[in-house]
Amino acid sequence: MDYRALGLKAGLEIHQQLDTKEKLFCGCPTTLRETKDSNFEFMRYLRPTQSEMGVVDRAALEEIKIIKKYIYKAYDTTCLVENDEEPPRELNQEALDYALMIACMLNMNIVDELYAMRKIVIDGSNTSGFQRTGLVATDGFLDSKGGRVGIGVLCLEEEAAQKIEDRGDSVIYSLDRLGIPLVEIGTAPDIVSPEHAREVAEQLGMILRSTGRVKRGIGTIRQDINISIAEGARVEIKGVQELSLIEAIVEREVMRQVNLLEIKRELSSKTQTSVSDKIIDVTPVFAGTSSKVIQKALKGGVVYAVNLPGFAGLAGREIQPGRRLGTEFSDRAKKSGVGGIFHTDELPNYGITPDEVAALRKAVGAQDGDCAVMVADAKEKAQGALEAVIVRAREALVCIPEETRRALPDGNSAYMRPLPGAARMYPETDVPPVAITEERLLRIKLPELIEERKVRYITQFSLNEELANQISRSGNFVLFENIMEQVPGASATSVVRTLETILNELEKEGVAVNNIEDEHLISLFKLQSEGRIPNEAIGDVLKTIAKKPEITLEEAARSLGVGVKTGELEAAIDKLIESRMDFIREKGINSVGPLMGVVMKEFRGKVSGQEISRLLKERIERKLGA
Ligand SMILES: [Zn+2]
Repeated sequence: MDYRALGLKAGLEIHQQLDTKEKLFCGCPTTLRETKDSNFEFMRYLRPTQSEMGVVDRAALEEIKIIKKYIYKAYDTTCLVENDEEPPRELNQEALDYALMIACMLNMNIVDELYAMRKIVIDGSNTSGFQRTGLVATDGFLDSKGGRVGIGVLCLEEEAAQKIEDRGDSVIYSLDRLGIPLVEIGTAPDIVSPEHAREVAEQLGMILRSTGRVKRGIGTIRQDINISIAEGARVEIKGVQELSLIEAIVEREVMRQVNLLEIKRELSSKTQTSVSDKIIDVTPVFAGTSSKVIQKALKGGVVYAVNLPGFAGLAGREIQPGRRLGTEFSDRAKKSGVGGIFHTDELPNYGITPDEVAALRKAVGAQDGDCAVMVADAKEKAQGALEAVIVRAREALVCIPEETRRALPDGNSAYMRPLPGAARMYPETDVPPVAITEERLLRIKLPELIEERKVRYITQFSLNEELANQISRSGNFVLFENIMEQVPGASATSVVRTLETILNELEKEGVAVNNIEDEHLISLFKLQSEGRIPNEAIGDVLKTIAKKPEITLEEAARSLGVGVKTGELEAAIDKLIESRMDFIREKGINSVGPLMGVVMKEFRGKVSGQEISRLLKERIERKLGA
């Protein structure tokens, strides 16, 4: 697809948790808990009122159609602030410093004073009914291969509570995550292709990780993508957790909008181009049905239907791989609590017979080019569902609706709610504003970028690209540099493998790797650089230390029969040379090979072959030279 010709514009919104000790507005730790360790729970019914919101938001309006019960799981690591029973404390200064560092790295203009604002949330993910957020900086940029991309805003926010379970009429949230500091970074809509979107997301992620101040792991970074094409509409796709999906999501949203525009063109070429409000009770049509789904729904329920003039063949038209216009109808209908819809493009099916389809079409007055849509469920739900289908069908005639959509694992997306309006914020009067002074900004030290660090490791330590990449991105990079500084002869390759692979494997085996101190590792690599610990013994030596951290590393090695006392190897070699002098004189330096075998017999597994070979060569050369 020619994205430029289509006028693709995309922007990213990245949410990244910061790795602070305390939460944004209270002193509780930012550690996540197991829900089974929750020590009490409480319940709320949340419903935003018109007075709180000024103008009632359309997204909020849709959500409050259904009144839900919210259950919150609290812990001994959460307090009354999370429960919304106490006002927030002062803003966490550590979090603000990290946010300022990130803003500087993105070349942004920083505000003079940070004001906490309340942003309405209607899904119960915050006990107070709003999320606290503060604008930190505006108007930055980052340079990508695809061109310069503006960074519109950076906000410091509180993380929402984690949704544990959605039971339809009630939702369970866990409060451990609520209030963890979060930066929200929004780019300008300067992204011009799917690959470009991925590149920018990767670069932003790299910059964030370079600070060493962000949380790592699943769910700690989330991306939303805004996408539109010239004739289309702005659509926000939420909840992308994997970078690898970003490209597919942009591709498929463009595909969706292109196909919806084609459907609109086809519809407007038809004579009958309006959708009536008329919802028809077609229950009698299915009185004797053998369709199990319909039978089940009819126990206390009804079958309602609408006619969509000119929609025959279009409701079943694929707009994303595996998703049709009918799927969009269905997504909207499901908001009323129904399981789904049936439309005549996919009937007869589900045990519904051709005769029943004909009778259904007749009952709603469908002509040849029309599509009938029906819902079998409780009366009110069926009514609400079809009203939503009518709205979506009318939109198909004139435009692509502006929507917030949810990313699906295959790169498609499904309807969540209308795009929220702008009137969602009002001041948080419980939190005093924070002045951001020149002096404070001057104190910020910008970190080395991971990309720069990687290049430095390749030249400074002769690491290969893969290992340099691995350690420069790792939280262990400071320890790595520390070891390399303290042990000048250490093999960088071996240090990286130990820190990144061996220790991880041991941890997976259940070894208490936390017992291994930096000092142990430094001794380990000192001995290893002297050839006293062969590479293949590193794992076992560390395992022993993890079990008995009170002994020295040398003792651990010796207990495994690894390593030898200083001078022991030298003495053995000298003794051997003495006894084989005739052979050595005859073969010269070529005698090293055969003699190696003899020494290895005794020292295999205790000392590296390389070290034995080096010593043998040195001693024989000295002997021959003498
Ligand atoms: Zn707290």
